[in-house]
Amino acid sequence: MSTTRLEIVTPRRLVLVADVEMVIARGTEGELGILPQHAPLVTPLEVAPLKLRAGGKWEELAVSGGYLEVMPNRITVLANTAERAGEIDVARARSARERAEERKKGRREGEEIDMARAEAALKRAITRLRVAGEK
Ligand code: ATP
Repeated sequence: MSTTRLEIVTPRRLVLVADVEMVIARGTEGELGILPQHAPLVTPLEVAPLKLRAGGKWEELAVSGGYLEVMPNRITVLANTAERAGEIDVARARSARERAEERKKGRREGEEIDMARAEAALKRAITRLRVAGEK
């Protein structure tokens, strides 16, 4: 089966390099399924799980926004943060989710910026918990 080299990097580290048969990512314009020989593109990414298939096996990572670039022989994900399922600290994500929910409940007038930050933190935590197979 034909494959493309996928690299997932963050400003902090190289998260994963694999020869993949398919990538499924959530771009800001919708879900993208990328097979080898896909037309070149660049898209911003949502905070969402990213799926890849390598060696016939699916794997899911938690990605918190960034960019996806498809080139003729390579796919690059430059993510703000990205974790493979086994790297996710579930207790940390649960407490991040709790903190974000508390902040949302304590909403007051003139706190739109904090609300947007709480929403974003909540999305990151939910994505990590989902990828880790937790509720
Ligand atoms: P927290 O409030 O727990 O720091 P956060 O969503 O604000 O969560 P980020 O700013 O998205 O954290 O990430 C900061 C760094 O910590 C990144 O390198 C990210 O990969 C890592 N990270 C965040 N949460 C987790 C987690 N639950 N498990 C493993 N790594 C995590």
